[in-house]
Amino acid sequence: MKRFIIIGPQASGKGTQADLLALEYGVPHVSTGSEFRKEVAAGTPLGKEIEPYLDRGELVPQELNDSIVKGVLERHPEGMVLDGYPRTMHQAEFLDSLWKVDAVVVLKVPDPLCVERIGGRRICDNGHDYHIVYKRPEREGICDLDGLPLHVRDDDKPEAVAKRLSIYHEQTEPIIAHYAAQGKVYSVDGSPSIEEVDIAIAKRLDGPADHHS
Ligand code: AMP
Repeated sequence: MKRFIIIGPQASGKGTQADLLALEYGVPHVSTGSEFRKEVAAGTPLGKEIEPYLDRGELVPQELNDSIVKGVLERHPEGMVLDGYPRTMHQAEFLDSLWKVDAVVVLKVPDPLCVERIGGRRICDNGHDYHIVYKRPEREGICDLDGLPLHVRDDDKPEAVAKRLSIYHEQTEPIIAHYAAQGKVYSVDGSPSIEEVDIAIAKRLDGPADHHS
């Protein structure tokens, strides 16, 4: 297995588990959200266009998305853990037309826990993320990897969080059934610690996919 998608609500631990999974399978971890944030931080024309959507916690429109995803797929033909894409049925169909995914890891975390976790999330301008309780940097407020200051993401503010969770339930959750019908979904409880979830994902991927009725 080399081609993974990871799906879960905001602060389900998707990015953290995607990093670990990528390491275990020797493939890169690619997050469309991080790709977009890099464009914004660099002030590119695309970054300027997408910044208001990111700030409001809304999905970036399809026509701006497709080119990013095509570029990502071309750069990593050997496989990857794709995090943050697809988020709608349209995106799932677009991805299916370009890429044959091996496994879809779904992290299940109840909304109240997501909201609590988001409150402690911190990030540096290069996209390395931390949590003030669950994933602390060595020096408070400073990224371990590049020494940059850590801050709260704009879309981690409460109004944007509520919007992102409702978009997740309305638009992203339906694609789980789409992949379950293909026998590719491996669901895991994302509530326990980072280490426990990592072990649970590895065990699930060694066995059969979710039963689909
Ligand atoms: P994330 O870091 O995955 O939570 O993504 C942050 C933001 O990037 C989202 O709230 C969207 O504004 C944008 N984004 C990331 N991936 C997608 C996608 N597949 N489709 C549309 N917008 C996206």
